[in-house]
Amino acid sequence: MSEDCIFCRIVAGEIPSRTVYEDDTVFAFLDANPLAPGHTLVIPKAHHERLNDLPADLAHDVLDRLYQLVPQVERAVDADGTTVAFNNGPAAGQEVQHVHGHIVPRFENDGGGP
Ligand code: 5GP
Ligand code: ZN
Repeated sequence: MSEDCIFCRIVAGEIPSRTVYEDDTVFAFLDANPLAPGHTLVIPKAHHERLNDLPADLAHDVLDRLYQLVPQVERAVDADGTTVAFNNGPAAGQEVQHVHGHIVPRFENDGGGP
């Protein structure tokens, strides 16, 4: 855990969040500033800054769980589709330096998207 990392503090329960999913290695929670209802962040519990830093087995856990959560989140908010994104590095818009995948529910004609 990194003491000055917001997401590590969320995993540790020091900062409240709305949990979507949790197991030994992966944590998913609602984004505090959602781009759409149900906007979910999927993270490794261990602190790694970038996708490039993730051990392969942990990357597999995160991506496997993200893939399984997409239809569940879609059903929960009756979405028509989903944008899945990782901002990898500050140049790509990564503001929190702990790897996280975004699950952003999409709706017909919502005008959003990358
Ligand atoms: P990034 O721009 O790094 O890809 O995305 C960071 C995301 O984390 C943003 O969508 C932002 O709303 C979310 N976020 C930042 N701080 C918190 C927090 O304390 N709690 C929650 N639930 N989400 C946060
Ligand atoms: Zn962290």
